[in-house]
Amino acid sequence: MDHCYDLHSHSTASDGRLAPAALVRRAAAHGVTALALTDHDTVTGLPEASAEAERIGMRLISGAELSAAWEGRSLHVVGLGIDPEHPRLRDGLERLQALRRERAERMDRRLGQKRIHGVLEEARALAGDAMVTRTHFARVLMRRGYGSSLDHVFRHFLRRGKPGYVKTEWPVLAEAVDWIRAAGGVAVLAHPLAYGLTRTWLRRICTAFAEMGGRGVEVVTGTSGANAVESAAALARRSGLAASVGSDFHDPEMPWVELGRLRPLPPDLVPVWQLL
Ligand code: AMP
Ligand code: MN
Ligand code: MN
Ligand code: MN
Repeated sequence: MDHCYDLHSHSTASDGRLAPAALVRRAAAHGVTALALTDHDTVTGLPEASAEAERIGMRLISGAELSAAWEGRSLHVVGLGIDPEHPRLRDGLERLQALRRERAERMDRRLGQKRIHGVLEEARALAGDAMVTRTHFARVLMRRGYGSSLDHVFRHFLRRGKPGYVKTEWPVLAEAVDWIRAAGGVAVLAHPLAYGLTRTWLRRICTAFAEMGGRGVEVVTGTSGANAVESAAALARRSGLAASVGSDFHDPEMPWVELGRLRPLPPDLVPVWQLL
């Protein structure tokens, strides 16, 4: 049987719209044979996802997408095949979640200064037991009529320099890589082309990432066109990083990204699943 890997996805444990079990079922329905659940800075969705994957006979890879900083820039690192209970990783995730709670409160105060009140309270209600992400803020602002799409709200309210933006001092990249490795996982630089960085910067980051123990870079994401795949593949070749593929699926109502709908990897690259 042909394998279909999707190594980047989100559930309601962070800013995804589907509960972990529903995400697993949707992945299977779209032909995915191995799914990584990689919620932002949390592993709380993994038990439910694993149980459902086992029930339906699909492979579930334990993952998380960690927020990190490198030379003043925010980056995302996907950890694949992690032991979610490893104490070093657990401590790291606690630190990230504390930063997120502080950030949410500061964002709320900043928006309050612009007479946009009570957003955090509504965002918490949306998130339920899960943590509040910027996506929850964006959904509340959208619901209140501040924009017609999440992208619009992000661009006008939540990006650097906008009323709801606050700077966060994420742990440095090497720490995030360490936690993932300590937990037995493979560290992958997520969506390299999504940071708005120049080619020169991306090359430097990939080289540094490989030196600190990073093993892969995402070459194919759910929104990658052919040119994007080629650009990211060039980064992988140059830095000797393995190549990952992941849709970064969040929401069934955003049909332009679908679980398992991914371009093929260029055949000369080492697929990251060979390291798992
Ligand atoms: P956070 O990790 O809380 O800072 O939120 C980052 C998340 O916001 C990303 O993982 C995306 O899911 C979402 N996001 C960021 N920028 C945009 C955008 N322009 N449009 C829609 N969603 C976005
Ligand atoms: Mn997200
Ligand atoms: Mn990301
Ligand atoms: Mn993601």
